[in-house]
Amino acid sequence: MSGIIRPDSAVLIEDVYLSDFYQVSTTMAQTSSAGTNKFNDNHYASMTTNQRIKTTTHEFGHALGLDHTTGTYDIMRSGKLSTTSLSSVDKNSYTAAYATY
Ligand SMILES: [Zn+2]
Repeated sequence: MSGIIRPDSAVLIEDVYLSDFYQVSTTMAQTSSAGTNKFNDNHYASMTTNQRIKTTTHEFGHALGLDHTTGTYDIMRSGKLSTTSLSSVDKNSYTAAYATY
């Protein structure tokens, strides 16, 4: 897997865009393959600080090209969780995604 955040080139600007939205759904946040992170105010309004940190860090992980993992303490585990630091799996996934970079 290759990450999607890259340095700008003469013909391509690789920015990450952030925005919020309000939607009554189970979607807390979403990140497009183009690097747009959107955060659902409907969920953020009732989240703890740690849940917000985890979800925001998780979405930046997607912007870096990382997929979901299953470890209990992984930031890249899906769900409204309170993990606020990167696990060894998260770090290894990042290293693998950028190994050829
Ligand atoms: Zn996710």
